[in-house]
Amino acid sequence: MKSRKKSRNSFFMLLLFLLLLCVIAGILLIWRKKNIETAPVQHLETELYSETELETETETETQTETQTETESEAETETESETLPAGTVTDMTLSFYHVFLHVSDNAVMPVVRMNPPDALNLSEVWVSSDNNIASVDENGHITPVSAGECRITAISVSNPNVSAEIQVRILPDEEPLPDPQTVSCSGSPRDDIYVIGGVTYVNGIMIVNKTYPLPADYNPQGMTPVTKEAFSQLCQAAQDEAGLYLFSHSDFRSYETQVYLYQEYADQYGSEAADTFSARAGYSEHQTGMVIDVNWPGDAFNDTPEAVWLEQNCARFGFIIRFPREKESLTGYKYESWHIRYVGQEVAQEIMQNKLCLEEYLHVTSEYP
Ligand SMILES: [Zn+2]
Repeated sequence: MKSRKKSRNSFFMLLLFLLLLCVIAGILLIWRKKNIETAPVQHLETELYSETELETETETETQTETQTETESEAETETESETLPAGTVTDMTLSFYHVFLHVSDNAVMPVVRMNPPDALNLSEVWVSSDNNIASVDENGHITPVSAGECRITAISVSNPNVSAEIQVRILPDEEPLPDPQTVSCSGSPRDDIYVIGGVTYVNGIMIVNKTYPLPADYNPQGMTPVTKEAFSQLCQAAQDEAGLYLFSHSDFRSYETQVYLYQEYADQYGSEAADTFSARAGYSEHQTGMVIDVNWPGDAFNDTPEAVWLEQNCARFGFIIRFPREKESLTGYKYESWHIRYVGQEVAQEIMQNKLCLEEYLHVTSEYP
């Protein structure tokens, strides 16, 4: 009986022990389960953290970039802030390369200051070698002796703003470079060069209110190429459309233009005269590559002859030099009768795209 009681006791003890084991196992299981559940969360959190870290890095980079931008903006602002309002910030010249003979007349570039409403638009001129070429206070560059030098224009308003012209003076007996093959470098507009006082852009002679011809430039009439091309044009007008085209006036010397412009200026005032007649030296008629066809004047506009001329002139190398709605660029009102020889290829590109010569060459036409 005693042993039976003893064995019953041991059974309870074992049961208690097993129960305890179960409880411990249970706790362990729950703890483990909890651990497994939390582990991926932790992992995810780490990933999330890394992303956030990355984002933060990117943000920092962007911030740095923005900061740098803001800083440089601020610098620029500070710079312009330190400059009083109305100070010149930029300067351009009508040409940057000059080739002249020793005996040639002075040439003068047109200076454009920005902003155009700056308080002081004047500049000072300096020659790097006055024994080669001198320059006066208005920018007239006068050849002195053979050699090379630089002429610099410096803004009075802002001495940090300047522009340089490369000058080459040749002995009178040495030929000037060929406009078709000359090449220059080291300036903002390497395609513009003045040779013996005449300006060429990419080999094309340009004469307008910005670019004059020397008073002594005189081809003694229409150039042979222009004359031949115009004769072919007139023949085609006759053959193809039965129209009679002829030259009313073509080459005009500097002296003739002095007289002509003065006549108009006396009659209409110089402001009005400037819209249809060129000042001496600024007339394209002096090139010998220009013809006023039939009857110069608005009465010629829209006549069958004017329409045919506009539609066909490019085939023979001519352009309508002062087209409709280009007055602000050419400096002249529409002239249906005034044609200029530029060669077939250039003429076709200009006429097909309805451009004026100033747009094609990217130049201005404004009296200095
Ligand atoms: Zn004309």
